[in-house]
Amino acid sequence: ASGYTLMRDPRHNKGLAFTERERDAHYLRGLLPPIVLSQELQEKRIMHMLRQYKVPLQRYMAMMDLQERNERLFYKLLIDNVEELLPVVYTPTVGEACQKYGSIFRRPQGLYISLKEKGKILEVLKNWPERSVQVIVVTDGERILGLGDLGCQGMGIPVGKLSLYTALGGVRPSACLPITIDVGTNNEKLLNDEFYIGLRQRRATGQEYAELLHEFMSAVKQNYGEKVLIQFEDFANHNAFELLARYSSSHLVFNDDIQGTASVVLAGLLAALKLLGGTLADHRFLFLGAGEAGTGIAELIALEMSKQTGNLIEENRKKIWLVDSKGLIVNSRKHSLQHFKKPWAHEHEPVSKLVDAVKAIKPTVLIGTSGVGKQFTREVVEAMASINEKPLIMALSNPTSQAECTAEEAYTWSEGRAIFASGSPFDPLEYDGKVFVPGQANNAYIFPGFGLGVIMSGAIRVHDDMLLAASEALAAQVTEEHFKKGLIYPPFSDIRKISANIAAKVAAKAYELGLASHLPQPEDLVKYAESCMYSPIYRTYR
Ligand code: NAP
Ligand code: MN
Repeated sequence: ASGYTLMRDPRHNKGLAFTERERDAHYLRGLLPPIVLSQELQEKRIMHMLRQYKVPLQRYMAMMDLQERNERLFYKLLIDNVEELLPVVYTPTVGEACQKYGSIFRRPQGLYISLKEKGKILEVLKNWPERSVQVIVVTDGERILGLGDLGCQGMGIPVGKLSLYTALGGVRPSACLPITIDVGTNNEKLLNDEFYIGLRQRRATGQEYAELLHEFMSAVKQNYGEKVLIQFEDFANHNAFELLARYSSSHLVFNDDIQGTASVVLAGLLAALKLLGGTLADHRFLFLGAGEAGTGIAELIALEMSKQTGNLIEENRKKIWLVDSKGLIVNSRKHSLQHFKKPWAHEHEPVSKLVDAVKAIKPTVLIGTSGVGKQFTREVVEAMASINEKPLIMALSNPTSQAECTAEEAYTWSEGRAIFASGSPFDPLEYDGKVFVPGQANNAYIFPGFGLGVIMSGAIRVHDDMLLAASEALAAQVTEEHFKKGLIYPPFSDIRKISANIAAKVAAKAYELGLASHLPQPEDLVKYAESCMYSPIYRTYR
């Protein structure tokens, strides 16, 4: 290829890092200024530039530009500065990017499949230039983060998640395919926006929706085979549960909002047991919010209890209570509950307020997954603190403005006794002369390593035991030193190592269950995981 083509291809471009020999051998002379920079210096220069931007969206756009100009440099930046750049390429900035996607759109970064493509989805998949795809992240844009229906502009989410698959989990960029399914939007603002990029119609539902998704699922399997991981992301909860139930026995599917969240929260709970004492089954759980996150977490907790005690899952569920927008989920409401809530309808009189539910159930662990901020009031936290020596409080709703309480509120209202973790990050703080470091139950701890484990073992189905394995692997990464600060998650700076450990445990479980197709099983799975991971270091062109 000519030097010009080489420079224009983001997979190959090295910018000023092309060496003298490469410039000679590949017709690059004169196309670049004379200086040769190292990748490290390029990285330093771009980080310096990014830090000058005060508007988060500018940083996001600069990162997207870099990704389409020089892919390896993009990933080097992301890997080396993960704590600083995660909020740029992912939540919260990606949310703003999706809201404005119509205006900032420059280049399609993934595939768009709309109702117009009905009957032709297989052909659409064949238009994608990469052949060996291993992970697809797909959304229909109906519930983007906590921002609601963003229709076709939800594309930022699959794009962002897949860049984390590569940066944190080491999946090759060319093996990642972002897809947005456009069945319309019910967002009036977008429907009336002249720059909106999606179908200008209200959402298709029912049979029309199901048929398009079915064609999509069949086409993916036909085009890429059984071993492509399909991650559902940010679907509204009725469709999310439905799709997972329908396709989990025929396809390799994973829903991060349900299963990924469950796995990361369970990991935090398992780690917290070292601080709280007792086994999982010794604890009582109360959730505010009974949707994808709440019921997903609840089910995985009950399953882990069964593994530990041998008790029936139905028995374990009785230790877990959920409150939705209508109050405590109890037996007398059973006839009118959505089916994913039914397993949680226990025998109790109706309770409408959270604080009364806390007093009645006396939970040791309180978890917020309602999407509504400020629900863990002083009264609620004080009630938890009066019942428990060390109340465990997780305020998982995102973004920060929707958190059920802040870290400061949890620590002060419990007089420094709470163990706290949240969905959005909070800074460390001092209370009563002691420094508290709030943990962040970020899904990015789990899904990249989980996906790597699935891929490297050639697993053909996702089994719940693989989620439990991921939780246990993450919990095992929390050390004595972290516990001393009150942390129940390890620091993000170690994420590549954490991901390799998660991948190894997930793969081991896949082999054990007979779901792995990559044979024979590698001897040292951690080493094997590390050897599979994509490195962003430049290659030399001869
Ligand atoms: P979802 O499926 O829509 O569920 C929301 C649930 O909250 C529903 O059960 C709803 O009740 C309930 N709810 C709403 N308002 C309430 C109120 N005022 N009082 C009591 N319950 C109320 O949403 P989701 O996907 O589970 O996400 C929920 C939240 O969790 C979001 O903010 C999301 O950002 C967060 N989340 C965090 C993480 C993480 O930290 N890693 C991961 C995933 C999600 P009804 O069923 O009665 O409508
Ligand atoms: Mn999500």
